[in-house]
This record gives sequence, structure tokens and C-alpha cells, in this order.
Amino acid sequence: MTPKTLQHDIASLIETTIAENDQLTSREEFLRDENSCCLCGETLAFEYAPERDLLIIKEDASCKSCQIRLRSRSYRIH
Ligand SMILES: [Zn+2]
Repeated sequence: MTPKTLQHDIASLIETTIAENDQLTSREEFLRDENSCCLCGETLAFEYAPERDLLIIKEDASCKSCQIRLRSRSYRIH
């Protein structure tokens, strides 16, 4: 699997996760909060690191302007 294919798979995976959370909050609000820096509002940079043995994708969100790492989260691959 090439990294590019993997990125695409992760995008669909997250898309699904967001859709499932639709009942809790509005989709736009969720996306805005998820993808923007809470300090400067800049769009976050996401990095993904697959941990194949555990079937987990580790997601790190960081803001390039503030040079901070905002959160780290893991997704389970089904
Ligand atoms: Zn920022």
C-alpha cells in the first residue's frame, strides 16, 4: 500500500467518523473545531502514522503558525 492510498483511506475513515457524530453537533461546527487551531484559527496540519500490528492509525494535529501540537488521537481500522 502506497502512502498516498493510505492517506485516501484515512480520509474516508475520518469522513465516516464525522458522519456518525452528526447527531451530537452540527457537521460544520464539528469540522471547524476539528480542523482549526484553537489559538489562531489557522487550519491544522495533520500527520498520520499507521501502527499496522495494532490496526490503529495515530493522528497528530499541529498548528504550523503557533508551532504547537494540539492533539493526538488514534483511530481503529476495521
Ligand atoms: Zn495556531
